[in-house]
Amino acid sequence: MYRFRFHGRGGQGMKTAGRILGTALFLEGYNVQDAPRYGAERRGAPITAYVRADKTAINERGIIINPDLIVVADDSLIPMPAAGVTQGIGPDTVLLINSGIADEEWRRRLNISSRILILPTEDYEDRSQQPYIGTVCAGAAARLCGIVTLETLRAAVRQELGLFDENIIAENIEKAVLAYDFMAPHEGLLIEGKEVTAVDYVRPGWVDIPIEDALISSPAIHGAATSVQVLTGLWRTMRPIIDYENCNKCAWICGSFCPDNAITTDDRGYPAIDYDHCKGCLICVAQCPPHAISALPEASAAKRDQLEYAV
Ligand code: SF4
Ligand code: SF4
Repeated sequence: MYRFRFHGRGGQGMKTAGRILGTALFLEGYNVQDAPRYGAERRGAPITAYVRADKTAINERGIIINPDLIVVADDSLIPMPAAGVTQGIGPDTVLLINSGIADEEWRRRLNISSRILILPTEDYEDRSQQPYIGTVCAGAAARLCGIVTLETLRAAVRQELGLFDENIIAENIEKAVLAYDFMAPHEGLLIEGKEVTAVDYVRPGWVDIPIEDALISSPAIHGAATSVQVLTGLWRTMRPIIDYENCNKCAWICGSFCPDNAITTDDRGYPAIDYDHCKGCLICVAQCPPHAISALPEASAAKRDQLEYAV
């Protein structure tokens, strides 16, 4: 079975990348699963999309722990443990990164023996803002597995983007084909992963999610400027936590990058996170120069709060 994992930020098209690749593999006669994983309204937050493909029935379910190919659309996610980019990486896993940094440098930084390739994209000052990066990722992944023809890739892009304007579809097909052609020297590089038997499955734990009153969760909004009343912090799955011992008080950095304006400064000039409105995108974690912000899964953070409260 082939297992693919796409990593990017909400808005980069990783869900679409997974769908295009999944459709292409399906059109080639494979059984396919494709599923993204993210919370509500995750623009800018780390998201993951998974694709499995096999000639026989796929009984495996859930997230992919040991992928054959990891595609990373935004290299700022790699050093962020919460994004889990290198989770389950093995010697046969291929890592394909959209990055301005060379593959040797990534191999040195990550200290892994896995094959690392750099995505063929034009030079942008901010590569995470590249248009159609999802389609580029899908085109490159299709060539690396060596089982998708160019015609099938074109058909899959058209099928998945069918509701868009013809010009947009044509531009996406062009980007996918460019990436597909660029990966020609590495065609068929992926090694099909082994079956995982049920005894190896890790049993998932329960997650308790706070419940709001229905009138708050689904309000009728008749006025403007009400977003402050929407507690987006309830959607958070990872909580950014500031280590004030290492904080340089350069809150113009974390505060400016926060897309939800959830970081202000206190009277002493230190940054303060408004957890009622922080959605957990973790952009501040990636941008903080001295790495003074770390991320903790929300459930662990809540447990930690309870313990602190009890003390
Ligand atoms: S960017 Fe980091 S070091 Fe600077 S104020 Fe924010 S948390 Fe502190
Ligand atoms: S505080 Fe950090 S994690 Fe929360 S929304 Fe702002 S940038 Fe994202």
